[in-house]
Amino acid sequence: MDFFTHFLVPYIILFALKSKNKLEGAFGGISLDLDTIFIAWIGFLVPYLFVFSHRGITHSFIFAAITSTLFLYVISRRSINGFIEKIIRRDISVEFTLKTVGIAYFGALTHLFLDFLTSKGVPLLYPFTLQRFSAEIYYYIDVTTAVIALAVLLILYLRLDMKYKKAAMVIFMIILVSFGGIRAYEKNAALAENPVSGNLVYSAAYPTQDMFTWTVVQSDSSNSTYYSFNYNTLNKERSDVKRVQSLTVHGGTVQSAQEAIDKSEELPAIQNFRWDAYDPCINASYNGKEWKLTYFDVTDDGYRSNNIMVTV
Ligand SMILES: [Zn+2]
Repeated sequence: MDFFTHFLVPYIILFALKSKNKLEGAFGGISLDLDTIFIAWIGFLVPYLFVFSHRGITHSFIFAAITSTLFLYVISRRSINGFIEKIIRRDISVEFTLKTVGIAYFGALTHLFLDFLTSKGVPLLYPFTLQRFSAEIYYYIDVTTAVIALAVLLILYLRLDMKYKKAAMVIFMIILVSFGGIRAYEKNAALAENPVSGNLVYSAAYPTQDMFTWTVVQSDSSNSTYYSFNYNTLNKERSDVKRVQSLTVHGGTVQSAQEAIDKSEELPAIQNFRWDAYDPCINASYNGKEWKLTYFDVTDDGYRSNNIMVTV
């Protein structure tokens, strides 16, 4: 979910609850995505630490508490928020107390919930497990929601009558919840209108930028065959139809390919790829000396590189 929505959701909830500490909650809400600046470079420099990436370590229940507390501490320093106040010409002074630390964590929890609704989700239970949890309802960033959120933020910033600000906040929440409801409904429709057949037994639908287009992936019980297509729930048409094998082997035996794959699984780049992928597949080809392994995801969601090649 986008930065502006992460600010607004806790801010509006706290406003509705008549809390004095709306800003503390909003700062907690945006704090987790500062991982793009302060954390992601660690994973970039040390590939084994790929959990130090955007939507990695900070997006877990435990480290979200640390992140939101640290951020609230920094932003509550007079020298820091005084500096920002001079630039934006608004009072953003916040307190650092046990209560506001709790409110900032509440903001962080709304962030985790919103990101849980999006593509591929978040590793909520890290460090106990790297597994990501996701409802697969929203695409990573919903552009329409982000633009509306920015407009609402601008209305809150301007010195307007309170009734306009209240109206903007109510409208924003209605839009956010409606979009989520429509997406959940359309996702179910995409699944219901494309029942599995033949040897295919599993079916999943992943969000795209368009709330009426879903990427449907069906697989057999051993996940060796995937049948995938984009389905538009308005005109009920399929596009980008493809059938993919989880492993294709050229130039060598399957057993030899499997040994090469087992070796490649120790590489951080491959572990990271698997962590990011819905349904990882491999093309293996042997040239007489070494195996060339090309990993790709059945669903190319257009967000990350979907083609990684290693030689073993
Ligand atoms: Zn996030």
